Amino acid sequence: MSFDYDLFVIGGGSGGVRAGRLAAGTGAKVGLAEEYRMGGTCVIRGCVPKKLMVYASSYAEAFEDAKGYGWSVGEVSFDWGKFIAAKDIEIDRLEQIYGKNLMAAGADMFLARAEVVDAHTVKLSTGEVFTTKHILVATGGTPFVPKFEGHEYVITSNEVFHLEQQPKRFLVVGGGYIACEFACIMNGLESKVTQYYRGEQVLRGFDHEVQGFVAEEMRVKGVDLHVGTDVQSIVKTDEGLVVTNTHGVQIVVDQVMYATGRVPNTQGLGLENANVALGGKGQIIVDGYSQTNVPSIYAVGDVTDRVNLTPVAIVEGGAFVDTVFHGIPTQPDHELIATAVFTQPEIGTVGMGEEEARGREEIEVYRAAFRPMAHILAGKPERMLMKLIVSCATRKVLGCHIVGHAAAEMIQLAAVALKMGATKEDFDRTMAIHPTAAEELVTMNTPVGG
Ligand code: FAD
Ligand code: NDP
Repeated sequence: MSFDYDLFVIGGGSGGVRAGRLAAGTGAKVGLAEEYRMGGTCVIRGCVPKKLMVYASSYAEAFEDAKGYGWSVGEVSFDWGKFIAAKDIEIDRLEQIYGKNLMAAGADMFLARAEVVDAHTVKLSTGEVFTTKHILVATGGTPFVPKFEGHEYVITSNEVFHLEQQPKRFLVVGGGYIACEFACIMNGLESKVTQYYRGEQVLRGFDHEVQGFVAEEMRVKGVDLHVGTDVQSIVKTDEGLVVTNTHGVQIVVDQVMYATGRVPNTQGLGLENANVALGGKGQIIVDGYSQTNVPSIYAVGDVTDRVNLTPVAIVEGGAFVDTVFHGIPTQPDHELIATAVFTQPEIGTVGMGEEEARGREEIEVYRAAFRPMAHILAGKPERMLMKLIVSCATRKVLGCHIVGHAAAEMIQLAAVALKMGATKEDFDRTMAIHPTAAEELVTMNTPVGG
């Protein structure tokens, strides 16, 4: 049977574009549909604009630090409108590149919504219908907001990048990656930031000491962080949004941003037409090769809710192409994925936290908490934390956790060592680089309590 396409990709984000480009590069006939903007969440309203905001928000502190080094810093001010305009130019540029690269690889690009009609057919919002040998669903996820009185007044990460004015009083709800990152961003931009998290400690799932360390440093920097607290209702008034929390306390803010998780984009996608199996959160269930229960339909990235990070979606897209178009069955490797949270201070982490590791085997913990040299003249009390979790049986480093300046940059390289199975002794016989903060990673001699 002949099809219009060998592969039709639904979604022009990190995973979809990678798979579409690589598949087209093999000579396969590829179509890709994107309903919003090419580049997807990461480029348009995720990692990239977020990181630009992190950079923007770090200057106020840098101006302060500079004084300790002899600089006289005049009056400074931040222009939200100017920043948003500059950021938009960069995002537009990247969006163009994504489209161009896809088409240069030989794929057809459709700026339209696509839905599954059956195991080998997709239909676009333009009315076009295509048959295809394989379908790759790479539709990502979307912010989840619970229902409560006044939920219609809140924004999510989808809107925060396009606000016309800087909200001077800002409430963030949630305690995950996005909530903590945006609490720090808006705090750095000198908005008055309140954060509500329903649980005991933000960043659930991370090493407990890392959680506590970051929460404390965020508070020291000015974020008014409340744990064990949720929103009960929001009422819109002339003074602003009046938020009543679960302790009955009221605050008035200009914007409330919900960062309470994301749900896979599978609604209205027509997956039921092909009987594609979904999990409880609406995620597409796939095997190790990203194949669904329908042999011609595969799915990669956030829509499968495995590890919701851009590099993971990209690797899953590549592994799919190796498997289906190169005939080399390839499973994406989800072990020891390093991750960073771009809070201020930043977190870089790979492997198991202390509590998880202790629950599995006997471990040693090596720990350094110190005030980095850069902060001394700046007069900043902020400390840095580094931890290595080591298996007593194999001596392998099971986890590496860093909180502080450039933690994300450092952990990328530590992740290579952990992936190679480095032992504590391998770290020890690695010569330090002096003077750096990272040298602590190879000079921690005595385990905690040892
Ligand atoms: P997406 O990039 O979401 O792409 C899916 C695309 O499909 C979208 O463009 C969407 O419009 C399109 N689409 C959906 N339905 C249809 C349809 N029916 N027809 C046509 N098109 C459709 N990850 C990191 O690694 N580092 C970070 O620093 C980081 N920061 C983030 C910050 C924020 C605020 C957010 C929200 C996410 C962040 N992430 C980060 C996560 C990262 O963005 C995602 O893991 C990644 O984008 C997933 O890629 P994907 O290809 O699965 O989906
Ligand atoms: P997360 O899953 O990280 O955090 C969601 C937060 O919302 C948790 O604190 C959760 O609490 C809370 N929550 C969930 N439901 C409710 C509710 N009904 N009421 C109140 N609070 C609630 O999701 P994010 O939205 O922050 O980010 C989504 C994903 O995107 C991340 O998990 C990550 O994979 C990716 N991402 C990666 C980044 C990076 O690499 N730097 C940056 C941003 C996003 P609880 O802990 O109690 O469940």
